[in-house]
Amino acid sequence: MSSQPRLVEVRQNVLKQNDLLARSLRQRFEAAGVFVVSLVSSPGSGKTTLLEKTLTRLIDNGNRVAALVGDLATENDAARLARSQAPVKQIVTGTVCHLDADMVQRSLEGWELKDLDCLFIENVGNLVCPSSYDLGENLRVVLMSVTEGEDKPLKYPTIFNTADVAVITKMDLAEAVEFDLAGAYENIQSVRPGMEVLQLSAKTGDGLNEYLGFLVSRMESRSLVGKVSVG
Ligand code: MG
Ligand code: ZN
Repeated sequence: MSSQPRLVEVRQNVLKQNDLLARSLRQRFEAAGVFVVSLVSSPGSGKTTLLEKTLTRLIDNGNRVAALVGDLATENDAARLARSQAPVKQIVTGTVCHLDADMVQRSLEGWELKDLDCLFIENVGNLVCPSSYDLGENLRVVLMSVTEGEDKPLKYPTIFNTADVAVITKMDLAEAVEFDLAGAYENIQSVRPGMEVLQLSAKTGDGLNEYLGFLVSRMESRSLVGKVSVG
């Protein structure tokens, strides 16, 4: 019984250290003029597919982008994302079910941040602890796919509370799985009133323009990037 408070204390110290490191990362990103977007979701919600489309579109329009992608074991996602021609690094976390600021910092070694307009970080598929770890990002995107059901926000309110925008993915499957879109919006709003919600299908491309437009508007409002274009 006596070990419990000690464990909590250790966890709080880990989080405090992470916050300090994330703060310095954020300053580095800002100084270099790079806008950083992180993606969080359950496994299989379509983070990598959306990221591949995003990187391809941004590169096609002359933007300088790169990605870090976290996974427990494989490097498959980095291989997929490399098809976009963007520089990509995989962070294999082993038994750790989230990324932290230290992993991000170490993965950036060898990259010249000022040569980038935009950096994407795909977190490990997990809706629980990624909510506690600031990665120094400017924008956190939480994805939920129509195949997961409408009640994800009610089950995992913290991740919705720490994200800046919610994206409902795999909309091409919505009808087949009888996804209740209105119910999903309602659940998101009940957890996080006023949260911006987008919907898309990375497969068909529906909603992709709106998503990319949203990212660019956030970059511009931060004045971090002068001329990011999505065509
Ligand atoms: Mg992935
Ligand atoms: Zn974790």
